[in-house]
Amino acid sequence: MSEKYLSRNFGVTDSHKIEVYLKGNGYSAVRNALKIKPENIIEEIKKAGLRGRGGAGFPAGVKWGFVPKKTDKPKYLCVNADEGEPGTVKDRYIMTHNPHQLFEGIIIASYAVGINTAFIYIRGEYENIAQRLEEALDEARAEGFLGKNIQGSGFNLDVYVHRGAGAYICGEETALLESLEGKRGNPRLKPPFPASVGLFNCPTVINNVETLANVPVIINVGADAFQKTGQKGDGGTRIFGVSGMVKKPGVYELPVGTTLRDIIFKHAGGMKGSRRLKAVIPGGMSAPVLTADEIDVPMDFESLMEKKSMLGSAGIIVIDQETSMVDVLKVVTKFYAHESCGQCTPCRIGNAWIYRIVKRVAAREAGKRDLDTICRLANNMLGKTLCPLGDAAAMPILAIMKKFRTEIESHLEQ
Ligand code: SF4
Repeated sequence: MSEKYLSRNFGVTDSHKIEVYLKGNGYSAVRNALKIKPENIIEEIKKAGLRGRGGAGFPAGVKWGFVPKKTDKPKYLCVNADEGEPGTVKDRYIMTHNPHQLFEGIIIASYAVGINTAFIYIRGEYENIAQRLEEALDEARAEGFLGKNIQGSGFNLDVYVHRGAGAYICGEETALLESLEGKRGNPRLKPPFPASVGLFNCPTVINNVETLANVPVIINVGADAFQKTGQKGDGGTRIFGVSGMVKKPGVYELPVGTTLRDIIFKHAGGMKGSRRLKAVIPGGMSAPVLTADEIDVPMDFESLMEKKSMLGSAGIIVIDQETSMVDVLKVVTKFYAHESCGQCTPCRIGNAWIYRIVKRVAAREAGKRDLDTICRLANNMLGKTLCPLGDAAAMPILAIMKKFRTEIESHLEQ
């Protein structure tokens, strides 16, 4: 039986209400953390091996440590709740069923870094969840967990919910900051990094919802136990969202390092009906596809990197033999062509051009040389764009072209 650090409340009646949360020992981590020195909390988070759950997997404690301790400017925490990666629904579940655990993480992170204002940037489509967060924030204020002099500690924190307007790119941290400042969500050139020059040019921490929801767990169970639940340098659990051709699609909280095979065949019930597995996208649509014989891989950052894919947002999309990889390619390329913000040429032109060719491939109006052009264009995006969207688009396209080229060529020949 694995630990349920984040999902133990899922399905409990009124789990989002503070009275239910408090009955389950809720907010004890905040009470304890406010008695610990801020720098010791950061050390504990580092020791726990908590890596970012949004996609990049950067160690959370290290990120907090980059924020200057002494500054004349205010510091901010921005919670990235702009969950737009196709195949990913984990943050939605946390915010719906367990908002107070997220708030605990926000309070502890803010206290550790010396922040008095936090923003939850939530994707526009999550309208009901934004409302639920507002109600839960009111409950937390009424109980003295937010506002002035939290639990008599002298620490003050205000939290605001800010709704986005439906752009995938606003999940990129600097685009999120631009959007939060009221501007078009265009990514910024880095450096400078947000830890020193972030929201309104002030030092800013940006963490994903699931990352922050793990923070009270580390305070409660201790860094060692948290670390041991997962893998070395990649502690804890992940909420894996499984969609596609499985018997039981859904979200599964399992230790970091659980194999992809176990997630699909043990937890998600295996393939639907008599369908056979063809491929799996292991970490949201940006993650390069794996073939059916590559699924004995532990789901952690390092193991997936060795397979030249990535854990990303842990959104697993299961593809069966009946599904055409040309159709998959069409969906992937259409999405990125639409979501490119257009700021830099390789991404703006490359994605639109690739999608035009892929549509001709799907209609059998292309030749094999067009497949080479797709690969050439994708390679010209890799590592040459202002933000990670260029890579996020190129990597899955190149993986499909490499691993399923024979299928795509035979589609053209039919
Ligand atoms: Fe915009 Fe794409 Fe350039 Fe990112 S890579 S800044 S999304 S054009």
